[in-house]
Amino acid sequence: MVTEGVESADVIVVGGGIAGLAAALSAREGGASVILVERAPEAERGGNTRYTEAFLRMKSVAEVADDFEARFAANAGGHLDPGLTRHCADPYADWPGIVRALGFADPEVVAAFAAAAGPTLQWLGGHGISFDLASTPFLTLSAPRMAPVGGGLAMVEALYPRLAAAGVQVHYQTTMQDLVQDEAGRVVGIRAVASGHRALVLGGRSVVLACGGFQGNPEMLARYLGPRALLLRPVARGGYYNKGEGIAAALRLGAAPAGDFGSYHAEPVDPRSGIAEPAVFAFPYGILVNRAGRRFCDEAPGRVDATYEAITRMIWAQPGGIGYMIFDAGIEDVPRWRVAVRSDQPPIQAASLGALAAALELPAETLASTVAAYNAACRPGTFTPLAPDGLATVGLDPPKSNFARPLDSPPFRALPIISANVFTFGGLKVTPRAEVLNSDGDAIPGLYAAGEVVGLYYGTYTGSTSVLKGAVFGRIAGAEGARRARGNRP
Ligand SMILES: Cc1cc2nc3c(=O)[nH]c(=O)nc-3n(C[C@H](O)[C@H](O)[C@H](O)COP(=O)(O)OP(=O)(O)OC[C@H]3O[C@@H](n4cnc5c(N)ncnc54)[C@H](O)[C@@H]3O)c2cc1C
Repeated sequence: MVTEGVESADVIVVGGGIAGLAAALSAREGGASVILVERAPEAERGGNTRYTEAFLRMKSVAEVADDFEARFAANAGGHLDPGLTRHCADPYADWPGIVRALGFADPEVVAAFAAAAGPTLQWLGGHGISFDLASTPFLTLSAPRMAPVGGGLAMVEALYPRLAAAGVQVHYQTTMQDLVQDEAGRVVGIRAVASGHRALVLGGRSVVLACGGFQGNPEMLARYLGPRALLLRPVARGGYYNKGEGIAAALRLGAAPAGDFGSYHAEPVDPRSGIAEPAVFAFPYGILVNRAGRRFCDEAPGRVDATYEAITRMIWAQPGGIGYMIFDAGIEDVPRWRVAVRSDQPPIQAASLGALAAALELPAETLASTVAAYNAACRPGTFTPLAPDGLATVGLDPPKSNFARPLDSPPFRALPIISANVFTFGGLKVTPRAEVLNSDGDAIPGLYAAGEVVGLYYGTYTGSTSVLKGAVFGRIAGAEGARRARGNRP
């Protein structure tokens, strides 16, 4: 490998999804010169952001949903030590280093996130992106959602030209491999490779890591999620570009890890489909069985947007990481049920359960007895498909808590479901100003992070907050990088 001459800018942004685009634009607005490096070729720029509808947990362009901070608090980590978390009541500057560096959904970071969400959307509005209340594929919904008109792709397509007009240099097909530090411990650049494995070094007064999680890296997935990671796949093409170099390089430098490294955002998808996000959210109106033909979970414990992730993790835990939604003609009583199935592949259909079992290669006798036991546990009652109706099975283990009606009207149908990996949860601990902390709770001078690189999720993903997290902390990180370039930060 030949190392080329060192190119430099005030701020080096790594990754060109929403986090990197927001960082680059805000750094430029702060007067900094900016280079953005993006692994993908230009035609595929934008990472995960390119493929998402980008639902936002906002009740208006100005305000986050009412449950926003409460959801993060309810999924703040494992069994957190009250002896440490009691310090969160003190001013942030007084927190001991072990608390600042603690891997948990830090309430200071969450509060900064919630406070900046509205202003960030308004800022993006000034850059040609409009937002509206969104209709979603969830037939039962626990919180409102907004979305950019045209989804994530519209954000990508609006912001890259803004960067070009503002004079940001974008290096496509350029992959950051490592960070460069000076003797004082400041981050002063990156090492990268361009296409053809040409090595280059880019110098900067600060570096913003906005290069996504590690859902595209089988080695890191196996290391952190375990061997069953083999049964997952990114939910869309953009995820294959996110291979974790940003997280790995910062950890090598001594950054504090945060976010649940053993977990990821799970979404139920049809494995037969090759389109982006072929999600299946209709299973509350049928039953789920595994390869043995047995049920393994409550298919309808509550509103689907709040429960699908936990159910998808149970599908992942089944033999082969696969389950099958079994349903019958009764689904036609569910208004618009097809919006809850985004696969481009038709359901597998048969006139009898036995024929359906044969088509799915499931043991027919077991499937028949599973359906018979389920049907026998259903009780008469009023079926109201667009809100949890309490129409529950009686005496069945596991129960089905809502929408439980016998499956006895042919044709019988099935959709196979696996867990997709939308993004990984493991990342870096940051301050409310997007500074990356070291494992002693001190900011690493010159190093910022935004988007999936920032570890904030534990347990159940607080839905529709990842694009927002990228935009919010990207904008903050860019502004901080520019301030540093102006000499206002050490
Ligand atoms: C189909 C789908 C649906 C989703 N739905 C929603 C939703 O409704 N709401 C929501 O909030 N979130 C949703 N998400 C998640 C959300 O889209 C992402 O988490 C978010 O867009 C991440 O933004 P980011 O900028 O951090 O990462 P990305 O958008 O993935 O951008 C990272 C960029 O970094 C580049 N890169 C990676 N490694 C390197 C490297 N070493 N050097 C240089 N460049 C590198 C990649 O090529 C990529 O362009 C969805 C995701 C998908 C795929």
